Amino acid sequence: MGTAPQPELHVVDHPLVQHKLTQMRRKETPSPTFRQLLTETSLLLAYEVTRELPLDQVRVETPLVPMEAPQLVDVPVVVSILRAGNGLLEGVLQVLPDARVGHVGLYRDHKTLEAIEYYCKFPPLAGRTVILVDPMLATGNSATAALDRVKAESPAAIRFLCLLAAPEGIAAVHAAHPDVAVWTAAVDERLSEVGYILPGLGDAGDRIYGTT
Ligand code: URA
Repeated sequence: MGTAPQPELHVVDHPLVQHKLTQMRRKETPSPTFRQLLTETSLLLAYEVTRELPLDQVRVETPLVPMEAPQLVDVPVVVSILRAGNGLLEGVLQVLPDARVGHVGLYRDHKTLEAIEYYCKFPPLAGRTVILVDPMLATGNSATAALDRVKAESPAAIRFLCLLAAPEGIAAVHAAHPDVAVWTAAVDERLSEVGYILPGLGDAGDRIYGTT
């Protein structure tokens, strides 16, 4: 009897990512700087989350000679969990400018912490690789709900990309979706009683858009 594969967790410990994350954690970092840092960090995270995408050899003509050269088999579809996901989307699209983009709008019921869907629009996902983005993997409720929604469209594979994760959120996502690999810049200590990541960086949407 074979053993089931372990769910994958990738912590991106690159010094530039860690440095920028520390600047984002500082409570005095203003929104425009936070946004800029998040864009820069998401570009670096995108580099990691796409590292093992399959390549084909295709025939090209350089100005000098023909050759067989590597090319992505499939440009992934990026799906953003609104609204904070759009803060990560920006940098991801800078390295994947040809990607098609879906959005799923979810808000947290502040009493139950459950994810309530208010919007969903996807390009065709069947057979595609999907990168689902949301900066904060906290309870895992929004991520799990979004993954349910994406999976219903029969993609070939899904990767979940966040900036910060709580151990509780990773466990919840991997319990519901063990086939989904998670990429994050850091795994923090724990969740607060009201579902914030500790030590964290506060409410990512508020920090991005200056809504506090
Ligand atoms: N969402 C956030 O924006 N921050 C947290 O700490 C948890 C969820």
